[in-house]
Amino acid sequence: MMDRRTFNLGLGAAALGTMLPNPVRAQGYTGPNVILVRFGGGVRRAETIGEATTFAPYLRHVLAPRGTFVPDMRIAQLDGVDTSHAEGTLNLLTGRYLAYRDAGSKLLQDRLEPTEPTLFEYLREAFDIPSHQALLINGEDRPQEEFFTYGVNEHYGIAFRSEMLSLHRFKLYKNAAILAEGTAPEAAMAAAQEEYAALMAADPRAISPDQSPEVTGFWERWRAHYGDDGFRNPRGDRLLTALAVRALAELRPRLMMVNYQDPDYVHWGNASHYTRAIQVIDEGLQRLVEVVEADPFYRENTVFVISPDCGRDDNALMGVPFQHHFNSRSAHETWAVLYGPGVARGAVLDKPVDQSAVAPTVAALMGFRAGQAEGDALEEVLT
Ligand SMILES: [Zn+2]
Repeated sequence: MMDRRTFNLGLGAAALGTMLPNPVRAQGYTGPNVILVRFGGGVRRAETIGEATTFAPYLRHVLAPRGTFVPDMRIAQLDGVDTSHAEGTLNLLTGRYLAYRDAGSKLLQDRLEPTEPTLFEYLREAFDIPSHQALLINGEDRPQEEFFTYGVNEHYGIAFRSEMLSLHRFKLYKNAAILAEGTAPEAAMAAAQEEYAALMAADPRAISPDQSPEVTGFWERWRAHYGDDGFRNPRGDRLLTALAVRALAELRPRLMMVNYQDPDYVHWGNASHYTRAIQVIDEGLQRLVEVVEADPFYRENTVFVISPDCGRDDNALMGVPFQHHFNSRSAHETWAVLYGPGVARGAVLDKPVDQSAVAPTVAALMGFRAGQAEGDALEEVLT
């Protein structure tokens, strides 16, 4: 099999055209739509789903009772499984453990790419859905997660990729646009050239393949709204909510994953950053639900699946508490909340459930099979 990077670099638009999903074979899709929310950056049950201790009251006291609450999801104890962000996210997206590999060169250290198909690829193989309707919303400082848009599995891959909305992508668009326009003052042109080169060096794969015309149009409107200076748009996980809300209105995604991440700032030792970040995600969730319920395209035709990437340590004796790389029991402990049409209401699935069940459950909700997933769909959740 051709190395993926070599493959991408040599991939012209004409070659890509021949690989796009075949609209004759694939069927149209009418829903339900799924919004997969990574309640991420690693969170413990205590601060998220603990009934009396939660910092996410909307999740725990409003959404969970409206749908199915899965309080005991676990990341399996397997050799080589790290309870961390990229790993947990790929477990959610592939329905498998260890279905990733290091993306390679020194420049790209710690970048994992999926080796099995992701939900986006299964979906786009099964249905005639354009790439801009299979969306990943990613944080600004995690270019390593730009690799999640498709796996290296031979049968699936780039032709069925998702598209990515992140500040990294916007900056690529913006600087390329400034350079192409050529109308900015000399100093601004030089700054755009420098930032563009730095972004490319940080992740050469980020523009290969190009984003679709629909996503380029999205950035054009985003730029018109927020301008070029970067001081007017929300930051951190609030930015992810803003991107997701705009994407719902402008791109009409059928499957969208929102990769919240800011609770991870607790690595630096400040517990209030962690609990505050959980509140910000909770507010984002509420906003997303309200937007969906106000939009006839999504209302009563959209399922929310909310689950963390990983847990966190629970050991108050550690020098810096709240870590998640030490294979502790609570770092393996997560949960899920599912809410929307086709999901049991007011139910609690009160048994241990594996994290690898999330992908096949999303697949079952949307009417396709995640053939390489190891987990089983949560039949009890589906009505
Ligand atoms: Zn972390």
